[in-house]
Amino acid sequence: MQVPCSFEFFPPKTEAGISKLKQEQSLLASVQPEFFSVTYGAGGSTRDTTLAAVLSTRAHTGVATAPHLSCIGDEPEDILQLLNTYRDQGIGRLIALRGDLPSGMGLGRGTLKYAADLVGFIRQHTADHFHICVAAYPEVHPEARSGQDDLQHFKAKVAAGADSAITQYFYCADAYSDFMDRCQTLGINIPIVPGIMPILNYQKLMRFSTACGADIPRWLSKRLEDLADDEASLLAFGKDVVGELCQQLLDLDAPGLHFYTLNQAEPCLSIYQSLKGVLA
Ligand code: FAD
Repeated sequence: MQVPCSFEFFPPKTEAGISKLKQEQSLLASVQPEFFSVTYGAGGSTRDTTLAAVLSTRAHTGVATAPHLSCIGDEPEDILQLLNTYRDQGIGRLIALRGDLPSGMGLGRGTLKYAADLVGFIRQHTADHFHICVAAYPEVHPEARSGQDDLQHFKAKVAAGADSAITQYFYCADAYSDFMDRCQTLGINIPIVPGIMPILNYQKLMRFSTACGADIPRWLSKRLEDLADDEASLLAFGKDVVGELCQQLLDLDAPGLHFYTLNQAEPCLSIYQSLKGVLA
């Protein structure tokens, strides 16, 4: 049986980036993903480029493509306009988020504050048209007052109408297993797909993980630090580690895998094709 998967991209800024992304997407389309997704810059900074990338990705690959949509810093009327555009374009799935504003950017008036507010807003205005996917944090969102508080806020997103979730990335399968147990205890039964971050660069990974609250276990950070200046070895080691993690997650009955591609197909493809049950 093929392992269900999806792949996430960011909207490219240049013509060269757009044409490179098309090549990467063609490679990834060959494994018949459930969907592609395209990120959104909080405050509407990529409103047009996200829409353009979603439509061109779907046209170019034939794969269903889901826009990410965040609410912080966006006016509700702008969000509504975008929802109507997506519905009119036949988009059926959204990734609904709060988003993170760059520091110094105001909140705007009438802003929906949390992702649960956005999910409720989408349901209020578009009923059941969209499959709504939200974010989940097995290692706890960095701004949460406590793990229990964060889980209650996750539950609120489900109560507001979320159909499924994708997790922040992590490198310890126990975090996912424990999170799934805690969700079950709270009666949260939607599919929760692990987000998978391939390891491509030591410094960038450490910087980004600190910001988003993803834990890099000490043994892993030390190994990556040793390999930081040897790109080929770092990539090969990263693929082994992340491939092993994916296998453990599937063995824990994860319903699929969502890859943060960073717009690069090969690392994700080679991890995916290393899994049991996936034909290379
Ligand atoms: P929320 O679920 O609203 O939670 C944010 C924080 O607020 C948490 O600490 C939560 O515990 C707390 N909270 C929630 N409700 C309440 C309440 N009522 N009272 C008090 N506290 C509360 N960012 C982007 O900008 N663009 C993207 O395209 C993007 N894509 C992503 C895709 C995935 C799969 C993931 C996992 C993350 C993505 N992000 C993206 C990052 C995301 O926007 C950040 O992690 C952001 O900080 C939180 O978004 P959220 O939707 O999880 O927020």
